[in-house]
Amino acid sequence: MAKIAINIATGSLQQAEMIVGIDLGTTNSLVAIVHPETKQPVCLKEYNANSIVPSIIYFDENDNVIVGEEAHSHLETNPSNTIFSAKRLMGKSYNDIKNNASFFSYKVIDDNTESLVKVQVNNKFYSPIDLSSFILKELKKRAEHILKTPVTKAVITVPAYFNDAQRQATRDAGKLAGLDVLRIVNEPTAASLAYGLGINTDGEKTIAVYDLGGGTFDISVLRITNGIFEVLSTNGDTYLGGDDFDKQIVDYWISKNNISQALLSNKSLTQSLRLKAEEAKKHLSFNEFFSTDLNGTELSITKEIFENLLSSLVEKTINSCKQAVADASVELSEIDTIVMVGGSTRIPFIKNAVSSYFGKAVNDSINPDEVVALGAAIQADILAGNNKDFLLLDITPLSLGLETMGGLMDVLVPRNSKIPTKVGRQYTTQKDGQSSMRISVFQGERDLVKDNRKLAEFNLTGIPGMPAGLPKVDVSFLINADGILTVSAKELRSGVEQSIEVKPQYGLTDGEVERMLLESITHAKDDIATRALVEARTEGEQILSVTEKFLAKNSAIISKDEMLETAQAMQNLQLALTMTDKNLIQTKIEELNEISRPFAERAMDAAVSGALSGKSIL
Ligand code: ADP
Ligand code: MG
Repeated sequence: MAKIAINIATGSLQQAEMIVGIDLGTTNSLVAIVHPETKQPVCLKEYNANSIVPSIIYFDENDNVIVGEEAHSHLETNPSNTIFSAKRLMGKSYNDIKNNASFFSYKVIDDNTESLVKVQVNNKFYSPIDLSSFILKELKKRAEHILKTPVTKAVITVPAYFNDAQRQATRDAGKLAGLDVLRIVNEPTAASLAYGLGINTDGEKTIAVYDLGGGTFDISVLRITNGIFEVLSTNGDTYLGGDDFDKQIVDYWISKNNISQALLSNKSLTQSLRLKAEEAKKHLSFNEFFSTDLNGTELSITKEIFENLLSSLVEKTINSCKQAVADASVELSEIDTIVMVGGSTRIPFIKNAVSSYFGKAVNDSINPDEVVALGAAIQADILAGNNKDFLLLDITPLSLGLETMGGLMDVLVPRNSKIPTKVGRQYTTQKDGQSSMRISVFQGERDLVKDNRKLAEFNLTGIPGMPAGLPKVDVSFLINADGILTVSAKELRSGVEQSIEVKPQYGLTDGEVERMLLESITHAKDDIATRALVEARTEGEQILSVTEKFLAKNSAIISKDEMLETAQAMQNLQLALTMTDKNLIQTKIEELNEISRPFAERAMDAAVSGALSGKSIL
C-alpha cells in the first residue's frame, strides 16, 4: 500500500523529492523541473515573474547578500559591491584573468601569484566558489518556495570547455549551497536533450548546437541514434559572448564621443556605459537605430555599425564551428539540424551568419534563455529513474596524458574521446633501485608537457628496489560521467598501489582550449622535430647508462681494446647529446651499439635488456 506523507508545516502533500536542473549561467541562471503530472520540463517562476535570475550578487554595507534582479539595480549605484560574471572567475588565478581585469568593476585581488582569485567586498574576501554558492542558494530558496518542498538534489550545467578544476569548483559551490550535485552536464548536451531531437525516429540524426551566451561560446556536434545522444566534438571560446559585444559598443562610444580617461576612472560611469551598451545591443536585435542620453551626452549607434563591430567576433565563432565539424568527421551536409542556444543568438546578424555557414535555417523554437535549464531538468528526471529513453555519452575536449622521459607528453586519452572511459598503460623505472615514480598529469595537444596544462601530480612510493626497467607500473585514467578524472598507479610485480584521486589544481594556467588547439596546429612541425630530438636524447642517455653498468659488471670478459674503443664511442655519444642534431645522436648510438654488440651478446643480462625496453617515467 502506498504511503502519502503530509508536510506538517504547510499542510500540503509531501511529494517524492524532486531533483532540479540548474543552468548556472555567467549572466543569468535558471531552475527547471520535469513536471510530475504533465511530464514536461518547465522553468520555475513565481506567478507573474520571470524565470531568469540574473547571476549578480550585491553585498550591502553589513555584508548581507542579495542575488538576482534586485542586485542588478545596484550595478550602477554601487559597482564595487556588486558582483557580475563571477562564473568567469571559476577556477582561475589572477594571472589567468589579468588581461580582462578592467572588465570587472569590483575588486579582484591581484596577489601576483598563481593562486586562485578572490574578490574583495567591504572588508571580506570571497572565492568564486563562495560567489556561485550564493547564486545557487538563491535558486534553491526560490525553487523551495515555488515547489513547497525541500530541494536538496540538483543537476548543474557547465560550459563544455570547463576543465576539471572548474567542474569541481561548481560541485563545491553546490555543496556549499546545500545541494547534492548528482551530475555536472555540459550545457550543449542539456540543450540537445531539451530539443529531444530524433527521439521518436529510427535512424541517425546529426545536430550542431551553437550556444552564445553572455560570457562563453560553445559549439558541439552531436549524433543521436535511436534515442542515444553522442557528442561527436566540441569547440568554442570561454571568453566570448554578449559581454564582449557590450564592450565593443562601449569602446565605440568612448572613441566617438571623446570620453576622457579621467571620466572613465569613475566606476559607476563605466558601469552605466556598459548597461546602456547592453540596452542598445538588445534594441538592435529588433530595430535599425538606438539612441540614448547619458549625463547630457547623446549615445547612438546604428544596426549597421553594430554589425561591423561584431563581424570579427562572429567570424571567430564560425571558425570554431568549422573546427568542430572537422573534428566530428562529418560533412557539413550531413548536419540535419542547427540548434541555437543563449540570449545572444537573438541577434539576427548572428543567426544569419550561422545559417549561412551551415547552409540551413537554424532551429530556435525553444526560448534560448531557458533551453539549457530545461535540458538539465530532463537529465535530472533521467537520474530520478523516471525517463529511461535516453542514454548520455560525452567527450573530452582536450587530450589527457602523462609526462614521460625528456618532458614528452604521452597521451592516454586523446581529445574527443567518449566518456565515461578508462584507459591504462604500463610504464617502468629509469634508474636501478628507484623506489618512487612521479606521475604528472597534463591536458593539451602539444608534444612537450611544458606547452600543456598541468592538472595534477603525485608520487607512487614504496616500489621495492629492482633494476631499472623491471618494475611494471600500471597507470590508469578513469574519467567518470561528469568528466572528472581519477588517476591511479600500481606496481604490478610488488602489488604496491596508490589509487589517488586527482585533486584538480585550480587556476594553474588558463585552460583556454581554443588557444591550445590553435597552437598545437601552428607548432605541429616544431613539435615533431622536438619530439624526435628528445626521444633520440633519451635513448642515448639510457644506452650510456646501460653500457656503463655493463662494463663495470662484466670487465672480466671484455678485452682492453674493447674497453678503450667503447669508452671512445661513449664519449662521442656524450658529446652528440649536448648538441641538437638528432641524426648525429642516432649515428653515435648506432656506432656504440656496433662496438658493444659482440660482448653484450656474450653476457646477455635480462635486467639490462629490460632497461632498454619500455617507456620510463622520470
Ligand atoms: P549565459 O548563458 O552566459 O548566462 P544567456 O544565455 O542568459 O547567458 O545570455 C545572456 C546574454 O544574452 C547577455 O549578454 C544578453 O545581453 C544577451 N541577450 C539577451 N537578449 C538579447 C537580445 N534580444 N539581443 C541580443 N543579445 C541579447
Ligand atoms: Mg548559457
